[in-house]
Amino acid sequence: MSRDMICVYHAADVEQAEVLVTWLAEHGIEALVKDTYAATMLPTPLIVAPRGIEVCVMDPEQAERAAALLREQFAEASAQRGPEPPGGTIEATCEECGQSARFPASQRGTVQSCPHCGRYVDVPLA
Ligand SMILES: [Zn+2]
Repeated sequence: MSRDMICVYHAADVEQAEVLVTWLAEHGIEALVKDTYAATMLPTPLIVAPRGIEVCVMDPEQAERAAALLREQFAEASAQRGPEPPGGTIEATCEECGQSARFPASQRGTVQSCPHCGRYVDVPLA
């Protein structure tokens, strides 16, 4: 095995990298987490690369497809953060943990629990 691995993505952490590897495998692309792979050869605990965890693909032909899939995936994710249609969901910011969460519009003006910390959150009217 002397083929070069092609890095298609720098994940923020090992967990995200592993999710991506699994996700790529579901699309028929053989990928691996480079730094975890290297770390298994070392006696010391996992060393996290300062620029992120590299997700690599073995096959150059698959690398292009992987990159296209990833672009598609992230474009979709950012589109979902766009404005909601009326009657969709309402964003509420938790006063306890400062994180925001979305609730169905039918719950506007009510008190719900925060999905992040479990405390009460006031869902705004608009
Ligand atoms: Zn919270």
